[in-house]
Amino acid sequence: MPEFDLLIRNGAVIDGTGATAIRADIAVRDGRIAVVGAPTGEAERVIDAAGLTVAPGFVDVHAHDDGAVLSTPMDFKLMQGVTTDIVGNCGAGLAPRDPAQPPLPGTDLVLGSLPESDWRTFGEYMEAVDRASLALNVGCFVPHGAVRYRTLGMDRHEPDDGELARMKEDVGEGMAAGALGLSTGLIYPPGAFARTEEIIALAAVAAEYGGLYMTHMRDEGKRLLEAIEEAVRISREAGLPLEISHHKAAGRDNWGKTEQSTALIEKERAAGLDVNFDAYPYTASSTILAVMARRREAEPEGVILASVRDKPEYEGKTLAQLADMLDVPADEAAQRVLEADPGAVGIFFMMDEGDVRRVLAHPLCMIGSDGIPSPSGKPHPRLYGTFPRVLGTYVREERLFSLDEGVRKMTSLPARRFGLSGRGELREGWAADFVVFNPDTIADLATYEDPRRYPAGIEYVIVNGKIAAEGGKQTLERAGRLLRRNGRSRSP
Ligand SMILES: [Zn+2]
Repeated sequence: MPEFDLLIRNGAVIDGTGATAIRADIAVRDGRIAVVGAPTGEAERVIDAAGLTVAPGFVDVHAHDDGAVLSTPMDFKLMQGVTTDIVGNCGAGLAPRDPAQPPLPGTDLVLGSLPESDWRTFGEYMEAVDRASLALNVGCFVPHGAVRYRTLGMDRHEPDDGELARMKEDVGEGMAAGALGLSTGLIYPPGAFARTEEIIALAAVAAEYGGLYMTHMRDEGKRLLEAIEEAVRISREAGLPLEISHHKAAGRDNWGKTEQSTALIEKERAAGLDVNFDAYPYTASSTILAVMARRREAEPEGVILASVRDKPEYEGKTLAQLADMLDVPADEAAQRVLEADPGAVGIFFMMDEGDVRRVLAHPLCMIGSDGIPSPSGKPHPRLYGTFPRVLGTYVREERLFSLDEGVRKMTSLPARRFGLSGRGELREGWAADFVVFNPDTIADLATYEDPRRYPAGIEYVIVNGKIAAEGGKQTLERAGRLLRRNGRSRSP
């Protein structure tokens, strides 16, 4: 019997902490890193990584793959070097649920095709993830929108004491099962109907379990700074750390505002608040068309239709092209899309490159794709390209920050932030999640026109010691695991 399962030889090893690369061999045994340095002994499989960089597997801190992790091979993430996917973001998720209620429109387009499901509580959803054969590791946030929907439906009213108690119970149940925290999406109904006090009450429950508050804020444009103030108040009064999702300044009138927003975040940090944020490396966002059509305060520079159920001929077209095709004004074209599919997803050019760069380069910024794993259509290219785009475009070509720093944003920073113990750094005894890539060629190939393309330059992706992708192809290994907060193994 060889002593090791896997040996990765001759690579430039980046440990994920931001330290510069060292030349080292890595030996893996039973899913863990056995030796970093000069291991002696045979291995079942040897990878020659000469000329390549070996880094901890990337953590996608902002995924919407709640359904996709159960129903797809997750190739779009794995092939980017992502070995851990964080779901339950923007208040959207698949639990808790009441089987008697209709699902929210667009759930399957946004969260991936849904498997047969019998769970009700968030803990039961996590159990289903735990039982599934996962291509990558998965960590979960309790989604406030789903919690509110189960108790109040699409009603706008404030919860009474009994309703609030039931919502708190749902959050507590998910946290006890090992969820990483509570997420909100305060532009999406029904989450948007919540007042600040409701969120403070629920976040306080997540705080009792050592969780994090992760938020798609109430406004990312005109009232960006006020929205940060609200998130800060929630974090402070509930007593838990704050993570601002996909930080941006949306709408031409607000371009440049990330200078003030990052200054405000730094000021709060200096005052003792534990706050940071994440971003994706693109100037276009993507979400449900109906939500953007209703929110008029920031007009996009352009719109592409990503997925529209039963209207493949609309997908990939700009709204202007569709208006031409139908010979109607753009507003009416959008109405026609929504009549055909109220859950249609669009891509919205809303950001300025200067803001994107300022946010990405900030030392508090982690990387989250915000990819929407629609089973059909032409999704935003971030679904396939986020991580290689950061390392190719922003690290190698633009030298916005170093490779070591880029890897840190994708590995140790999120792993520490979310309490993913034993992951995110390349250290002896830690989990053997790696990506082996060529820093000279790594690049995203997914475009708005042709988004379903794997990146270039990623040679191997290893999940819990198993080779999950090699030579640009996913293998049949399904070695991913459900990750509970701080390695908690089950519900108490
Ligand atoms: Zn969001």
